[in-house]
Amino acid sequence: MVKVEHIGIAVKDFSKSIPLFESLLNTKCYKMEQVESENVNTAFFSQGDTKIELLQSTTEEGVIATFIEKKGEGMHHIAFEVENIIDEMNRLQSEGFVLLNEKPKQGADNKLVCFLHPKNTNGVLIELCQEIRTIE
Ligand code: ZN
Repeated sequence: MVKVEHIGIAVKDFSKSIPLFESLLNTKCYKMEQVESENVNTAFFSQGDTKIELLQSTTEEGVIATFIEKKGEGMHHIAFEVENIIDEMNRLQSEGFVLLNEKPKQGADNKLVCFLHPKNTNGVLIELCQEIRTIE
């Protein structure tokens, strides 16, 4: 894995959390993007060479809504940048990790993404992500 690409944080209300993170990080939210397949809105903040991604559900039953209902707002996942997502998915699967999606899917921020089941990762939801332009 190349580096921590971003940390995802589940929030209820962008109108409160975006200003909060802008003042916490002392930087403006530079991008907002809806990911329809996941029923989430995302808001990104740059911090050094990594990012914070806020996630807000667009539906009552979305994954983020369900997460907040169970655990409350807070840290949702850690995303690692990888050179080749297919290679990394194969490697992790052969190491016994459980992938939540069999094929990479389109995520926010022009990325292909894959999630690992948190039951094999000490309860931490892990996202792999790769820039789409590097796929041939
Ligand atoms: Zn993410």
